[in-house]
Amino acid sequence: MKSWSCIENCGACCRFDLAERKNISSVLSRKDIDLINSMTRKDGWCKYFDKSKKACMIYESRPHFCRVSEFSKSFKAYLKKGDKFLIECCNQHISSIYGRKSKQMKAFKTAISTK
Ligand code: SF4
Ligand code: SF4
Repeated sequence: MKSWSCIENCGACCRFDLAERKNISSVLSRKDIDLINSMTRKDGWCKYFDKSKKACMIYESRPHFCRVSEFSKSFKAYLKKGDKFLIECCNQHISSIYGRKSKQMKAFKTAISTK
């Protein structure tokens, strides 16, 4: 069975559009939403995302909603489907940001299939 795994040089989930991510908005507090809005640049990317390195600049102190292993437990779909839910989310993010044939998608598929 495939297990979810994050990959390096991705960050596809670091571009926010809460209007498109209704499932996330429903489990966030007002404070979280304000924080997300304050972190989001005009182009939708998090201001802490280093686009050239494709990495988080505040990784050790990133907010709770950026910590997938913990935050995922807030979703009913995760409790029901487990890693399948996380894999679907990453597939959506990576497809929409980098494309289905991107090197990030290839790396993600490799990462989840080798665990
Ligand atoms: S989209 Fe998935 S694989 Fe890419 S950085 Fe986010 S959690 Fe990791
Ligand atoms: S804080 Fe870091 S992990 Fe969270 S969205 Fe911003 S760049 Fe991504």
